[in-house]
Amino acid sequence: MKVFIIASALTLVGSCATERYSDKIQNIKDSIVFSDKQEINTYANSITANELKDEVYYISSDFFEGRKIGEIGFDKISKYLKDYYVNQGILSPIGNDYYQTIPESFFFKQKNSSQNLIAYIKGSEFPEEVLIISAHSDHLGIKDDNIYNGADDNGSGTAALMEIAQAFKLAEHDGFPPKRSIMFLHLTGEEEGLEGSRYYVTHPVFSLKNTIADLNIDMIGRVDKIHKNNSNYVYLIGSDRLSTELHYISEAANNEFTHLDLDYTYNDENDANNFYTRSDHYNFADKNIPVIFYFNGVHDDYHQPTDTAEKLNYSVLEKRAKLIFTTAWYLANSETRITVDEL
Ligand SMILES: [Zn+2]
Repeated sequence: MKVFIIASALTLVGSCATERYSDKIQNIKDSIVFSDKQEINTYANSITANELKDEVYYISSDFFEGRKIGEIGFDKISKYLKDYYVNQGILSPIGNDYYQTIPESFFFKQKNSSQNLIAYIKGSEFPEEVLIISAHSDHLGIKDDNIYNGADDNGSGTAALMEIAQAFKLAEHDGFPPKRSIMFLHLTGEEEGLEGSRYYVTHPVFSLKNTIADLNIDMIGRVDKIHKNNSNYVYLIGSDRLSTELHYISEAANNEFTHLDLDYTYNDENDANNFYTRSDHYNFADKNIPVIFYFNGVHDDYHQPTDTAEKLNYSVLEKRAKLIFTTAWYLANSETRITVDEL
């Protein structure tokens, strides 16, 4: 009898705790409302498969020589990105050259200085708070006379970031600036071990405590074997690790606007690939900044000279870029910034 009483008491405590948790989740879900759907749709629709395709083909052309950090091809892509932002009328928070220079002494491996490229749109209500959208623009260069064009890795993310920036600029131009600042961060040295993001988080332009989240894009233009019969997917990694609210905002943006299958396979903490630690978002997560890593999974051309532009699926690249844009719109415009879960 005594055992029974204890068991009942435990059951009661357990169910109360569960109820409180489900109430909390329901409250979070109920609080996520897209009040400006029309505007979001209008500017999301400025992101098109054709424009993404043109950018990916150019970024992954032989002209950029595989975009290896410390080599001429990487400096060419930096210059190309800078000219793009100048032409779009999108400023940099760090001055006219847009370059966050990283001295050679910072790097473990490579010998030349390099640079992150930073552009931004200033927030209209909370300009000191910033949402970062990031993508690395470096790749593997030339080996044995083979150019590693890196169309998916990470021409796809670079092109998506450019198009997302343009969409936010169009909105600002029409009188819909983001409430919070949005940074478009093109990183160097990812392929050498997340070097550009490691530099950024130790030399942040906005304080890390005012950095509300990092949405990191690394390979979103391909369809992996697992999804060969349904290309309408994207892997999300990290969305629920630090902020439950971020996870549900991301889901709500997808439910409302893009209707992709969100695949969380690689978000499993026991996943052997450990992708959570393998791209630039991880340096932000390590500083307790909520992140989402957008990813198409691996394929036979991963880190091969055969990662070329004609192999991408541009309509799903468009949808994935739109998911990132609509999620970013919410994060930048919500009345209160997202909260980090208490440990
Ligand atoms: Zn990559």
